[in-house]
Amino acid sequence: MIKNLLEFGTRHLVRGISRKSDLVVDKACGVWIWTVDGRKYMDLTTGIGVTSTGHNHPKVVKAVQAQAANLIHAQVNIVLHKPMLDLVTRLIPVMPSRELDSFFFTNSGAEAVENSIKLARTATKKQNIIVFTGSYHGRTIGTMALTTSNTIYKAGFGPLMTGVHVAPYPYCIKCPVHRSSPKTYSSTNCCSDPITQLQLLLKQQTAPQETAAVIVEPILGEGGYVAPPADFLGELRKICTKNNILLIADEVQCGFGRTGKMFAVEHYNVVPDILVMAKGIASGFPLSAIATRKELADTQTPGSMGGTYAGNAVSCAAASATLDVFKEEKILENHLNKIRSAQIFGLLKTTITPLFQSTTISLDIRGLGLMVGIEFQNAPPGFAAAITTEALEKHDLILLTTSIYETLRIIPPLNITKEEVEDGMQRLEKAVKSVVE
Ligand code: PMP
Repeated sequence: MIKNLLEFGTRHLVRGISRKSDLVVDKACGVWIWTVDGRKYMDLTTGIGVTSTGHNHPKVVKAVQAQAANLIHAQVNIVLHKPMLDLVTRLIPVMPSRELDSFFFTNSGAEAVENSIKLARTATKKQNIIVFTGSYHGRTIGTMALTTSNTIYKAGFGPLMTGVHVAPYPYCIKCPVHRSSPKTYSSTNCCSDPITQLQLLLKQQTAPQETAAVIVEPILGEGGYVAPPADFLGELRKICTKNNILLIADEVQCGFGRTGKMFAVEHYNVVPDILVMAKGIASGFPLSAIATRKELADTQTPGSMGGTYAGNAVSCAAASATLDVFKEEKILENHLNKIRSAQIFGLLKTTITPLFQSTTISLDIRGLGLMVGIEFQNAPPGFAAAITTEALEKHDLILLTTSIYETLRIIPPLNITKEEVEDGMQRLEKAVKSVVE
């Protein structure tokens, strides 16, 4: 049966998708996925950071069922609906600042990013946008222009949105000091120091009076799971405030508890002007949002924002249920994330690092919370992908690579158990062992 389904899917779905596996999935629960032929896999991707409460969390399922029975669709350009208002009530207290209390809901991360740019341009009456190297902001015509993590995402699709300037993210392949989070930016003296480069950009390429916003991933996602030096975001905040440029934090991947705090900017005590969220927000239902200050939101002309499915009622109910699960399972309050994160980092150091002792490959194990990256420096091309293939085929473990460098990423559910972490790390160890040997 699986062969027929695979052939059917391959024939009728566009090849531009480039799937990472040939699995045909039937059902899922928590950290587990079952294919149509009954094989059970451990999923350490959470569908790229989406099912953060685990696949099909019963509370989310129940809320979605109840919402679907009551109201599925209410169009935001026609009416207000209760599930959206309920969600806003829950979101306001968990935002990094009480000032970020004006929301606009959309369906995908890219759509939310696009709307953050629209807002920034109209609010500032300026046009240019600064992005960072290694960033991923989406695949639409607008967001492709902002995406710099890999040429494949935009090659051939131009002309794209203009007015985009690229500054270096603090992730210099040659400079080890840029690669680990606890170091401060000011303690580096690397030639490509990103704050100096940004200041040069504002002098040489896009003047502050032409620059509407700087958009940044507080933790680089598709670019390699890199936490910036501790004072990088603070420096950015200062430059933006000084030059009347809006700071947009794209927390599509690193937000919603992924790093151990509700939003990654909280680790750095930075409040952006616009915060973009998606993925983990609704446990798998399509929902994204921007949050901003009222005075910025009020610069918008009524009718300039909207969307047929924007802030769908069932998706909003799923998001409220997700926040309820966060509370009930004390995912952040209990530092559950921190404990599991420490467990993963600990196991990686004791089981995976030693496997490379007699090789020329060195490991950079990094990230924040349950956003864990392992870069295999000096490894041959395809090394990280070979590990994901081995893990999938021999150890029933679903993993992802990230970035243009040889990097694995681990993105488990935030409520993964201690035993599941042990199980997953044992599978990973076996997979790495057979690729190294
Ligand atoms: N921003 C970031 C930081 C992302 O990681 C992604 C998705 N990987 C997006 C935006 C785009 O989100 P979507 O795929 O939902 O459009």
